[in-house]
Amino acid sequence: MRKVLIVGAGQSGLQLALSLLAHDYDVTVMSARTPEEIRSGKVMSTQCMFHSALQHERDHQLNLWEDETVKVEGLGVSIAGPDSSRVLDWFGPLEHYAQSVDQRVKMAAWLELVEDRGGKVVIHGVTTSDLAPLAKLYDLVVIAAGKGELVQLFDRIPERSPYTEPQRALSLAYVHGLERRPEHPDTAAVRFNIIPGVGELFMIPAYTLSGNCDILFFEGVPGGPLDCWDDRPSPQQHLDRILSLMKQFLPWEYERSKNAVLTDAKATLAGGYTPVVRNAVGKLDSGTAVLGMADVVVANDPITGQGSNNASHCAASYLDSILDRGDKPFDEEWMTTSFEKYWEYAQHVTTWTNAMLRPPPPHVLQIIGAAGEKPAVARRFANGFSDPTDFQHWLLDPAKAEKYLAEV
Ligand SMILES: Cc1cc2nc3c(=O)[nH]c(=O)nc-3n(C[C@H](O)[C@H](O)[C@H](O)COP(=O)(O)OP(=O)(O)OC[C@H]3O[C@@H](n4cnc5c(N)ncnc54)[C@H](O)[C@@H]3O)c2cc1C
Repeated sequence: MRKVLIVGAGQSGLQLALSLLAHDYDVTVMSARTPEEIRSGKVMSTQCMFHSALQHERDHQLNLWEDETVKVEGLGVSIAGPDSSRVLDWFGPLEHYAQSVDQRVKMAAWLELVEDRGGKVVIHGVTTSDLAPLAKLYDLVVIAAGKGELVQLFDRIPERSPYTEPQRALSLAYVHGLERRPEHPDTAAVRFNIIPGVGELFMIPAYTLSGNCDILFFEGVPGGPLDCWDDRPSPQQHLDRILSLMKQFLPWEYERSKNAVLTDAKATLAGGYTPVVRNAVGKLDSGTAVLGMADVVVANDPITGQGSNNASHCAASYLDSILDRGDKPFDEEWMTTSFEKYWEYAQHVTTWTNAMLRPPPPHVLQIIGAAGEKPAVARRFANGFSDPTDFQHWLLDPAKAEKYLAEV
């Protein structure tokens, strides 16, 4: 039985652990926190997962909340004018629904499931110096520790990482009491509100510790009015500030949010991080190679809501690579090849996400405008969130965009 150590109990590490257990691997997960600490901790993400990522969870019977969680059936885009009027507003249906399960709910339960399904769980915040002696005991060590300090084992790749600073100030609150959007009251949808030059507000239907809820998630351009969280407001002050910014910039969304209340005392988050792509092979002082996974090696800004989706795709791709390897050694060459196989997918997400962080070029504005008149354009844009590899064929290239708009 091949022995695999996975450091980090997030979307990628736990999904890989649970899928390897189904194939009779000897799996150990090291987690900095117990399930109860995860459950009672702060929210970590907005984690809206689209169909292709959800399917990986279903393939391994990990979709434990599928029946209870609100089904996200579409994606809408609005643009605010300088006078806070709504200058554009449309809705694109998803072919298959998306869902967002609070990572506190999901990761705590999946960590318990690792033990239930025969894996070992060690609660320990791992340091780089812990790794060399540990690595000798395993055939493969996977580092799935998100954006934590262990990323230092992996070198940044400058030609794949155009940014050296955070591109957005992030701020969110999980709330109950939001009203459905009057324009499509029977359909739960992610709403993507753009405030040109200032930032974006995502409104995401989700499932949390207390049932279904909504997430209000601001992405603020650094130095602008949405970059205002350094004073670490209390949870209630945090929500009040989000609501007052909505009232100022997006009054139509404020109207249905004004009675929102926090789902719990740990339901707010603020921060930001630099998007980065790193080398997938990390070297310990002992010379042993370890494999980086998901956010450790490809961390994009959440503006396109793809990080958990990527983590799920990365876990599925690494699972295939591990199974294909059979009894052969998990050497550096195999690690590089396994990452590049995942990168064939992730590069498209990275290109699209990095482009969305810049002011939109004229052809993208044209497409967003055209989606308001042509439902086919809105539909294609919305469904690209489930398969971002599609954007290279029409949205990201001015010539292809022009050709597509002429044909549609
Ligand atoms: C504000 C915000 C909004 C987001 N919105 C979305 C969205 O809408 N859709 C989407 O798909 N993605 C979204 N993301 C991104 C998504 O949350 C991440 O990309 C995803 O969780 C990455 O999964 P992962 O497995 O790589 O790491 P993580 O989920 O971060 O898991 C890493 C785990 O490793 C543990 N760990 C860290 N260091 C150590 C250590 N030294 N020893 C042991 N354990 C350790 C951590 O405690 C954690 O449990 C968002 C992120 C943020 C910050």
